[in-house]
Amino acid sequence: MTASGTAPAPPPGAAAGEPSAALREELARESRSLEAADPATIIRWAVDRFGPKLTMATAFGPEGCLIIHWLAAIAPATYVFNLDTGYQFAETLDLRDRLARRYGIEVVLEQPEQSVADYERDHGGPLYRTDPDRCCRDRKLAVVKRVLARFDAWMTAIRRDQSPDRATAPIVGWDHKFGVVKVSPLANWTKAKVWDAIVREKVPYNPLHDRGYVSIGCAPCTRAITAGEDERAGRWSGTAKTECGLHSKDA
Ligand code: SF4
Repeated sequence: MTASGTAPAPPPGAAAGEPSAALREELARESRSLEAADPATIIRWAVDRFGPKLTMATAFGPEGCLIIHWLAAIAPATYVFNLDTGYQFAETLDLRDRLARRYGIEVVLEQPEQSVADYERDHGGPLYRTDPDRCCRDRKLAVVKRVLARFDAWMTAIRRDQSPDRATAPIVGWDHKFGVVKVSPLANWTKAKVWDAIVREKVPYNPLHDRGYVSIGCAPCTRAITAGEDERAGRWSGTAKTECGLHSKDA
C-alpha cells in the first residue's frame, strides 16, 4: 500500500505479458535510483508500489532468510512461497518452521500437481537422474508460473555474483519469462556481506551451510562442496546443468 493507504495502480502492461513503454521506463528509472539503496529501502519501495500484488519466492537460502528478516518489519502479510518439489532436505523444511516462529511469516509451500510417488511412477523412476531439466520444469517452473499468474511483481533473493546468468540482473526489471516485475533487493550484494548480516542480526539459517553445503536446492541434486570450488558447484554436480531455469535467461 502507498503511504496514503491507497492501493497502487497495477503496473500498466503487466497482464499482457509484455510491459508498456511507460512501465519499462519506470522500471529502468527506479532500478537506477535503487542501485545505491539498502535492501530494506528496496523492499519498502516494492511494497509501496505493488501492495498485495507483490509476492516473494524463497528456497530458504541465506539471502531469502535475510529478506524475510526485513520483510517482517516492513510488510509481514506479504505472500511468501517456496517451491516444494517434494525433494527438499528435511533441514530446509524445518527452517521454514523456525522462520515462522521467529518472524510470524508462514512461507506457503507451493507444490506441483503430482506427488513425488505419482510423478516417479508415471516416468518410470526419478527424472532428476535422467532428465533434470524436465524435472525442474515440471516441479519448479510450472509451479512458479501458476503462482505468479496471481501477482504483478515478485521478489527474489538472487545475487549478481552467483552465476553468469545472474550477472546482469537489475534491482528492478521486467521478467519476460513470467510476465511480471522482478525485484532483487540483494542483486549487488556479495556472499560475505549477506553472511555478515545473517550473523549480526542472528537470522535463522539452514544448518547444512555449516556442513559444506553452500547453495542448497533439492536433496538429490545438491552436494557439499570443498574449499576452492565455486559456490554453485554442488548443484547438479557432474552435469552441465547450472540453473533450474527460474533465473536463467534462456529457459
Ligand atoms: Fe528435480 Fe533436481 Fe530440479 Fe529438484 S533440483 S526439481 S529434484 S531436477
